[in-house]
Amino acid sequence: MSKKCELCGSNENLDNYIVVPRDEEIVVCSVCKEQIEDNSKIDETHWHCLNDSMWSEIDAVKVVAYRMLSIMKNQDMLDMIYLEDDILDWAKAGLPEEDEEILIYRDSNGVELAHGDTVVIIKDLPVKGAGFTAKQGTAVRNISLVQKDNTHIEGRVNGVKIQLKTCFLKKS
Ligand SMILES: [Zn+2]
Repeated sequence: MSKKCELCGSNENLDNYIVVPRDEEIVVCSVCKEQIEDNSKIDETHWHCLNDSMWSEIDAVKVVAYRMLSIMKNQDMLDMIYLEDDILDWAKAGLPEEDEEILIYRDSNGVELAHGDTVVIIKDLPVKGAGFTAKQGTAVRNISLVQKDNTHIEGRVNGVKIQLKTCFLKKS
């Protein structure tokens, strides 16, 4: 067993970390391990250590380096790190799922809506906080999609930018 953290070189509070899904063990310190296991605790300064360890001869170390760089979106270093194809597959297999699934926005008829579309309001809608009603039949041009919420789009009505429920709209 190595006497120091294979990622940052620290020799304090050493522990093993199992690199799934191949289950190879590497030696890591508690600081690295905590941040590997809980990405909300990532301290990017700490991971400057990858400048050295990304060149490790141990594949499992490079795999962890690649994953941490991916999570931190450090493209400069990702461009430098070199992994054989099968090692790269291993590294990618352990990356957290992207939580940005692709949302489809649909109008009241189930027609897909896209950024820049024009829609027509199909019923009178009181606009909270704006003090007016968006009237049935009003065309809303150049809509934008509300991020992470496919039940709403955004557009201008009476010159005011408001959010509208897609179920009260019809693409024109
Ligand atoms: Zn460490």
